Amino acid sequence: MKQIRFLDVGWTYQTLAPKMDAAAKRVLESGWFIHGKEVEAFEKEFALYTGAKHCIGTGNGLDSLELVLRAAGVGHGDDVLVPSNTFIATWLAVTRTGANIIPVEPVESTYTMDPDKLEAALTPKTKAIIPVHLYGQPADMDPIMEFAEKHSLFVLTDAAQAHGAVYKGKMSGTLGHAAAFSFYPGKNLGAFGDGGAVTTMDDTIAENVRKIANYGATVKYEHDSLGFNSRLDEMQAAFLRVKLDKLDNWNWTRKTIARIYLDGLADTPLVLPVVIEQTQSVWHLFVVRCKDRDGLIKHLADHKIETSIHYPKAPHKQGAYKNMAGISLPISEAIHREVLSLPIGPHMDEDDARRVVEVVKDFF
Ligand SMILES: *Cc1c(COP(=O)(O)O)cnc(C)c1O
Repeated sequence: MKQIRFLDVGWTYQTLAPKMDAAAKRVLESGWFIHGKEVEAFEKEFALYTGAKHCIGTGNGLDSLELVLRAAGVGHGDDVLVPSNTFIATWLAVTRTGANIIPVEPVESTYTMDPDKLEAALTPKTKAIIPVHLYGQPADMDPIMEFAEKHSLFVLTDAAQAHGAVYKGKMSGTLGHAAAFSFYPGKNLGAFGDGGAVTTMDDTIAENVRKIANYGATVKYEHDSLGFNSRLDEMQAAFLRVKLDKLDNWNWTRKTIARIYLDGLADTPLVLPVVIEQTQSVWHLFVVRCKDRDGLIKHLADHKIETSIHYPKAPHKQGAYKNMAGISLPISEAIHREVLSLPIGPHMDEDDARRVVEVVKDFF
């Protein structure tokens, strides 16, 4: 029985080895490793891909989020509306700026921020909203933007799981006022190390992000604001350029696998993911809900199928946020108890997906 891996980052190197080797050699022989031609070219190519006016390479996804918040002037004393269910980085970025987190519960069927819950969460100090395109599906942006405009709020989208996703004809990266991407190896577009990017249509945000990420300097050794150091390096940019060429194909494979799961598992007791109208998920994760999660994990593992949980514990239940442990976020808590991620990715083929379906059905 062949093992079905949850993630196989090595596979992406193996399928592209000659091109990756050539990219690495090109960088090594250039003798230029930071802020050079590869980063510049990747920024242009990723801007073109998303349709955003600006793309700025960064060190990772968490930095991308923090850089945008700081570029938008979010800091001490401000409140930020953040999903109650997300990877902790979305929360940490807010905390790192000194601002406060106001958790907003998701729509239970889509797992993304519920626009109808924004009004009740709003405070006089609210300055920004961070919708997360969780699991690869864009948040319901139209009502969120309408609310943001009404209250003059800045909207940063966390697009770390949504390279290539589309909402009503608009690409992830152009939704909201700015978007934060991660190129962590396991993402749909992943480097062979850390990396990230910010995309935006806004000239001032772009300029501020570049400056803050460069020690607060626009001109070398002129530091007129407090910045830090966050850069995409030449090697990762060169690798990402090779992979960007494959992104649409790989996202297509994910969609095919998702389709096989959705059709094949429709008659099981599992709660399946729901994609909202006029939206294209890039299926970073295929997340189901199961009452007997532990049982299903074991059954799949017995059949050599790897699974994972995104995420096992809600951010407000983490030690890092023990000041918030007392608050009640029942939707997020229920989600965290039951979610299970089935394997999905370009390393799998349709037969693998059909085998997963058969083994899951066999559990019930
Ligand atoms: C991966 C991820 C991040 C953080 O990206 P890093 O590159 O690991 O810092 C932020 N938000 C979400 C939703 C993510 O999935």
